[in-house]
Amino acid sequence: MSDDDIIYVAAGCDRYHESRECQGLSHARAIEKRALSSLSDEFTLCELCSGAYQAGLSDGAFVTAHLLEDLDPDDIG
Ligand SMILES: [Zn+2]
Repeated sequence: MSDDDIIYVAAGCDRYHESRECQGLSHARAIEKRALSSLSDEFTLCELCSGAYQAGLSDGAFVTAHLLEDLDPDDIG
């Protein structure tokens, strides 16, 4: 992933997404398409896009459901 990569930010959020199709963007009112290099340090990569939550899939549906419960929808973006 280079600094020139295009990422997506939901308006008003400090989390960015690698995929426009991310579930974290599904309820965003407005989505900004930006270059990763244009983001300030306060932006963090969405857990769904980073694969942190998908990693739970190999441990079965129960673990995945548990991880998703811990995920605050307002925090995804
Ligand atoms: Zn995402």
